[in-house]
Amino acid sequence: MVSRVIPVDSFDLVIFGGTGDLARRKILPGLFHRFCAGQMPDTSCIIGAARADMDDVAYRTLIGEALDEFAPESRAMPDDVAGFLDRLSYVRVDATGDAGWSHLAKKVRKDVVQAFYFSVGPSLFGPLAERLHAHAIATSQSRIVIEKPFGRDLQSARALNATLAEHFTEEQIYRIDHYLGKETVQNLMAVRFGNVLFEPLWNAQYIDHVQITVAETVGVAGRGAYYDKSGAMRDMVQNHLMQLLCLIAMEPPSFFEPNAVRDEKLKVIRALDPVAADQVVRGQYKATRNTPSYLEAAENPDSLTESYIALKVHISNWRWKGTPFYLRTGKRLKSRVSEIVVHFKETPHSIFGDEARSAANALVIRLQPDEGIELSVTIKEPGPGGMRLVNVPLDMTFAEALGPDGENVPDAYERLIMDVIRGNQTLFMRGDEVEAAWAWTDPIIEMWTTAGKKPIQYDSGSTGPEEAMILLHRDGRRWREIET
Ligand code: NAD
Repeated sequence: MVSRVIPVDSFDLVIFGGTGDLARRKILPGLFHRFCAGQMPDTSCIIGAARADMDDVAYRTLIGEALDEFAPESRAMPDDVAGFLDRLSYVRVDATGDAGWSHLAKKVRKDVVQAFYFSVGPSLFGPLAERLHAHAIATSQSRIVIEKPFGRDLQSARALNATLAEHFTEEQIYRIDHYLGKETVQNLMAVRFGNVLFEPLWNAQYIDHVQITVAETVGVAGRGAYYDKSGAMRDMVQNHLMQLLCLIAMEPPSFFEPNAVRDEKLKVIRALDPVAADQVVRGQYKATRNTPSYLEAAENPDSLTESYIALKVHISNWRWKGTPFYLRTGKRLKSRVSEIVVHFKETPHSIFGDEARSAANALVIRLQPDEGIELSVTIKEPGPGGMRLVNVPLDMTFAEALGPDGENVPDAYERLIMDVIRGNQTLFMRGDEVEAAWAWTDPIIEMWTTAGKKPIQYDSGSTGPEEAMILLHRDGRRWREIET
């Protein structure tokens, strides 16, 4: 199979925060990969813009080192690295002052696609938007890319949307959620809407429940004080897990087109029931001999912030009435796994007798560590001795099924940045979606804030608090084992 690289128009991409962690770890290595794939027109330029005082040469050295660390395959490709670094330049700008803006105005061209990536803290989004206009750099065709967190509640998200709307239209704003850029997430839509097999079964009549898990092994050390203002609900559920839930639960859009898809996602968020206190479990990880506890890392012994959360969620519409969605995410867990598991119902009657029954079908959509989709089906156990049934996986792991192309799937960031250049907003969140997500999340957070409820302590390296297991046991179900 020959990989198809769809060319994009020539562009100027300005990365505000171009010296920061995200730029060095994800954005620039991602752009390097697209450069190597021949997807970057010769006349395209990448301009790093940040507070540090440095020139083009120093910036290229910084990014060369970042490639060495975060795209290690680049070490064997010195010509490509040199060609890519040649596209880079640097402008020192102060997002909250006047320094550097006239210099930037001279550099950014008006006759190519203009994209401005706001890879800076959210307090700078407004000042950047304002200055891009005040200095006549942005045009009505420019695009801006906004990183999470997009607000910390409904009120702040509305304020942020309003500030951006003063300078840019919704069609110019790309709110990035890198989970949506993952190959598997798009494949989930291909599997759902590109086959007749699944859609007729995709409802409460045939689906028993859905589990969405994002488990991390890392803790919050190093950024504990920052994380403590947020917690798992704000940091992960309000954006990543809810976006995955929307893609699973949404009605088929009429076209794979930005507003058609986002309209359907919005309807799901609006159909979410409020969550009761006994449908939420929150936890904080304990210390090990070598690693600090959440409370120590957060430098706040009285913290009520959760490093783990599990929720039982209901969607009140015809398709999903009666099918719960269980969401969980946490830090310092046993393994690093992101997956969605769609558990189908058991067959209504076992013609082979109850002893021969095997587990119901399950569709596992795995985002991390190895992307792929697996459907468990029941077959006869081979050999004589009667009709014994076993569950076997029908594996659609891309690396195996698609050969070399399956292994070289672009990283989420590089795909999404290219979508920005192409002007395709399908995989980006719309302002009303973000606000609706906060409108659902806020009362849940308020519930435990008002109650002053302490999260449960759980062992580092475990699967989370026991109470999260009970959340499912109560319903006669259990979480799929977190394993890599
Ligand atoms: P960082 O602290 O490493 O980098 C911040 C960048 O902003 C630096 O380049 C700095 O020079 C620049 N900056 C700060 N103040 C400035 C000013 N007044 N004028 C001009 N430039 C200024 O931060 P980061 O980790 O790269 O994160 C950037 C954004 O991306 C944040 O909003 C963060 O929440 C979000 N984000 C980061 C990650 C990640 O993995 N790092 C993941 C998801 C989202």
